[in-house]
Amino acid sequence: MTAAGARSLHSSPALLVRAIDMGEADRRVTFFTREAGVVVTVGKSAWRSRKRFGGTLQRYVLLDISWSESPGRMSVLSSAALSESFWPVVEEWERVRHADYLLEMAVELFPQAGPKPRAFEILLKGIRSIATGEPPAETARRVEGAFLALGGWGPHLTGCRRCGRAEMGRYRFLPSEGGILCEACPPGGGTPISLGAVKTWRVLQTGKGCATGRLRIPCRIVEELRGIMSGYVEYCIGKPVRSLGGSS
Ligand SMILES: [Zn+2]
Repeated sequence: MTAAGARSLHSSPALLVRAIDMGEADRRVTFFTREAGVVVTVGKSAWRSRKRFGGTLQRYVLLDISWSESPGRMSVLSSAALSESFWPVVEEWERVRHADYLLEMAVELFPQAGPKPRAFEILLKGIRSIATGEPPAETARRVEGAFLALGGWGPHLTGCRRCGRAEMGRYRFLPSEGGILCEACPPGGGTPISLGAVKTWRVLQTGKGCATGRLRIPCRIVEELRGIMSGYVEYCIGKPVRSLGGSS
């Protein structure tokens, strides 16, 4: 018997994204991790061992996990320890669906393997904000703004994408343009967006919107940006997001 390749061991802070049963004893568990991005592991029958996992494999908790990788095989989860819990998330359905949305966004926007320290930090702060009672729709806009900027999707918000005119009272947002247009420039269509909403989105792009001690976003701006930002996230992912069920 020859070894198929070196088995390597890894560990990272992680958030559980989803768990799917595979047969009688195994379960496929997907995590978003700081050190390796998306990690899909199979929890062998040991999954059932409360001694080993202590009932920690749940959503809305920060975990420290370790797993082993072998070439050509699924990664195997070897341990999971609770680091911080965000249980207040499960107290309200709006919190649950928005927390799920943040997790889904992280996995869909940053699917490449490799360390994801900034995306992980944005995600973690978002889940923590929802758990500590920030309005979930507001948290979602902060995380959308930071994720999109981090991933290089922009959008371009300093002025009309075509003619460059800036600081006008109203623009239109077109996902296909990756930014805003004035009333005059082609193509037509898009969603009207106020200068206030554009300015707010610019702040969210800097990531400062996710810092502690941040400014609150006025409700009407959150409401205005709701469909526009989630729609742009879906445009960048290339498919509808499931967790918000079509409307955020
Ligand atoms: Zn223009």
